[in-house]
Amino acid sequence: MTTILAAQAAEARTKGEALIRTADRLLCESWNERMWADGEPIDPSPTIDQAVNGGYPWLEIECSRCRTKRDVDLASLRHPSTTFVHDLASRLRCSKCAKANRRPPATLLQLVQRPRQAAPET
Ligand SMILES: [Zn+2]
Repeated sequence: MTTILAAQAAEARTKGEALIRTADRLLCESWNERMWADGEPIDPSPTIDQAVNGGYPWLEIECSRCRTKRDVDLASLRHPSTTFVHDLASRLRCSKCAKANRRPPATLLQLVQRPRQAAPET
């Protein structure tokens, strides 16, 4: 009996995790759609955890000053995984502009499943 219950627990957990993954993916897709539609408001957004779990571990951003685009690997960020993606706008800096001693905020574009371009610096 215990082994049956344990097996049922494992099965239920697997199903639950799959459902959460689906929910996270849908959350990323709906956020993307809102970003494409008007770019704002970007709040609320998925958390880093949810984006990675939902299969959208990359964030495409653009520098608000020089317009350089960059793909950010969310899993490699030092921010806590419970950080909302929209909160990253003010925290991700353009390395080009940083060299010129400017710190413009990033414009968030969309979450992507894989980077479009190789990210030379993250
Ligand atoms: Zn820049």
